[in-house]
Amino acid sequence: MKDSFNREINYLRISVTDRCNFRCQYCLPSEGVALLPREQILSYEEILEVARAAVEVGINKFRITGGEPLVRPGVVGFLERLINLTGVKRVSLTTNGYLLGEYAEELSRLNLGSINIGLNTLQEARFKQITGVSNNRLVLKGIKKLVEYGFERVKINTVLLKNVNEDEILDFARLTGKYPVSVRFIEFMPCGKWSENMDKVLMGDEIISVIEKGLGRLNPESGVPGDGPARYFKLPDAQGTLGFIMPVTNPFCNRCNRLRLTSDGLIKSCLLSTERVNIKPWVSDPSVNSGAEPAEAHQKLVEMLKNIITKKPYAHEGCRDIQMSKIGG
Ligand code: SAM
Ligand code: SF4
Repeated sequence: MKDSFNREINYLRISVTDRCNFRCQYCLPSEGVALLPREQILSYEEILEVARAAVEVGINKFRITGGEPLVRPGVVGFLERLINLTGVKRVSLTTNGYLLGEYAEELSRLNLGSINIGLNTLQEARFKQITGVSNNRLVLKGIKKLVEYGFERVKINTVLLKNVNEDEILDFARLTGKYPVSVRFIEFMPCGKWSENMDKVLMGDEIISVIEKGLGRLNPESGVPGDGPARYFKLPDAQGTLGFIMPVTNPFCNRCNRLRLTSDGLIKSCLLSTERVNIKPWVSDPSVNSGAEPAEAHQKLVEMLKNIITKKPYAHEGCRDIQMSKIGG
């Protein structure tokens, strides 16, 4: 269905947990972020009920994110059920990749749209500094396993921060020479506790220029499947592609196609807005919470989604008050 700015809303990003096995400082610092009580987290059945209602309003692409989705038990079975839901065209996954080695075989057998792996450094010491945990080899092994199992839609999402990991631009870009993966550079959005850190933003155009100087001309590449705002290029003779997502210097609100569901049942129609609608009473045992019969609750949910889409704001207001790990990026 279209929103009031004529944008087709066909994509829902679902955060299945606010928990994470990493503590990336800009996303989920080790102190000062309260985790949700477990009983507030939607069950898989409840999330599937939201997905059924979403399909009715024209949403047919889904991305599962977190926190870290692979830390939630049963996530593979849930992905399979979502993929098989009537009306669902594409289900993708975003993960930090730490547990990918364990899951790569199962995941590569699912008909997933893409698996996006957040990886901001290839250097072990720096990995520990950024994520709070050791052993980045686990992530790299997980990625290699996916490729070995023949999974073709691997995307590495790299957030570059000035004076933190900007010296690794060329190392990341070179990965596309070696492997048939897509490396996507995402501009850091100064949010939450980091909202004053505009000086950490490395602009997409700066990154492009470093790559072209170091490795040669980037040729525009069309036909990389995805639901988002990335612009894709390829280096000469590379196996994979390079993508650029520029929420800061080139906001894509005019093409926004998505809603978000947080793990505790709030729908957000804009990542960076603090507006949210609580749909939990209509999916969690509705007869107890809202007094409604299941069919009535389902219909109510559909109406709520239509209403949220109609009221989706055109653009965002900045992200001082948002917590990325709760929303899923
Ligand atoms: N844990 C998974 C991961 O790291 O990929 C999924 C959730 S994480 C919130 C999704 C993506 O959001 C990651 O690629 C992460 O780097 C990115 N992210 C988190 N905070 C961000 C920020 N302030 N600006 C840009 N990207 C951010
Ligand atoms: Fe966890 Fe992903 Fe946030 Fe890092 S970016 S803390 S891996 S949710």
